[in-house]
Amino acid sequence: MKVGILTIGNELTSGKTQDTNSSFIARQLNVPGWQVAAMMSVGDDENAIRGGLNYIMGISDAVIVTGGLGPTADDITTVAIASTFSLKLYTNEDVLRHIQGLFEKHRLKWTPNNAKQAVFPEGAETICNPIGTAWGFSLKRNGIIVAVIPGVPAEVRRMLPEGVIPLFRREFTEEAQYVESRTIKLFGIAEAGVDQALADVDLAGLGVNIGFYPNFPENHVVLIARHASEAEAKKKLKKAEGYVKERLRDYIFAYDRETLESLVASLLTERKLTLAVAESCTGGLITDRLTDIPGSSAFLERGVVTYSNVSKTELLGVPEQVLHEFGAVSEQTAILMAEGVRKIGKTDLGLAVTGIAGPTGGTEEKPVGTVFIALTDGKKTICHRSFYRWDRRRIKMVSSQSALMMLKRYLTGEMRDD
Ligand code: AMP
Ligand code: MG
Repeated sequence: MKVGILTIGNELTSGKTQDTNSSFIARQLNVPGWQVAAMMSVGDDENAIRGGLNYIMGISDAVIVTGGLGPTADDITTVAIASTFSLKLYTNEDVLRHIQGLFEKHRLKWTPNNAKQAVFPEGAETICNPIGTAWGFSLKRNGIIVAVIPGVPAEVRRMLPEGVIPLFRREFTEEAQYVESRTIKLFGIAEAGVDQALADVDLAGLGVNIGFYPNFPENHVVLIARHASEAEAKKKLKKAEGYVKERLRDYIFAYDRETLESLVASLLTERKLTLAVAESCTGGLITDRLTDIPGSSAFLERGVVTYSNVSKTELLGVPEQVLHEFGAVSEQTAILMAEGVRKIGKTDLGLAVTGIAGPTGGTEEKPVGTVFIALTDGKKTICHRSFYRWDRRRIKMVSSQSALMMLKRYLTGEMRDD
């Protein structure tokens, strides 16, 4: 079954409000065999609503419409839909009494325009709004169901699972298909590179869809397998995943809901290892990401932001002479920062980052985007030099990612000495 989503509102087409309803609905429609055919936003305009609805109905078996059901004059969705299908409007007395009851209960002043919310196209079934006054409705036209609910996101969150999805389930029972999906998270390779690496694999032939979702600095690949048998869908997905792993092993760091920080956190916790972090150009981002994980106090002893030369000396014990001779952004400094923070924090591991985030401060030898990352366990210290061509924020993000990747590789034994 293909579902189309039409969101209505001038606030959407003017760019003032971002359409979050479509993405919410699409996530909720993750039901075996259901696919989103299209998402479209139109303003509160009868022609646009009519055109949008006709287009979406042309490519869908069911349509969800949100927005434009309020009491104000700008909300015209009901009228526009009734006119699209040449249906008369009528006032539903039960809904009217319900809305009036809500006004009395909350001691609100009744204004006649509220009666508009009890008006529906003839033949429509109402969809209860458990938290507001704008009820929804559904209609069937040429075998296509159109379900209309208000635009307020909190109301969508209630009415979609309670009113719309059960309705669709009742109508579309026959073509149940199992959907199995896997998100593969990669770092260090661009979208085009992933595509290229998979050029020889016939995923479509296998009946598996592939989607690319760049999520800077990561790239996510989502594989979706569908089949009437759950076991078959799982088998196809596993096969496709195997192809991707074979070709992109070096770049894969996590799957599905796992994040780089959650992975590092569980590896450190499992091994009962403690960590101290010293950050310069990342300004605390690594520590911020690690402390997003509940229970991070089990392994994170401290994270210090040593931005100035003085702080690197005072808080980490990096000798002034090293900073002077090699510079604050150097392999020597990064190594001494990692070793210094480990010693002061009395931890198993010390991780440090120093780099030039720009836009100024670069030299020919060390251009903007040069970053050194060091990791020590007290016996051995490793340091990587990287160079990134992005802006300040992205350099910080990619540096924190590289540092956590280094930690992850150390913890899983994938660490190479290069
Ligand atoms: P309406 O049902 O058209 O009266 O919409 C009520 C309010 O819900 C609007 O003023 C918006 O703030 C919000 N809203 C409507 N449609 C959307 C949407 N697609 N995504 C996010 N918010 C929305
Ligand atoms: Mg509106």
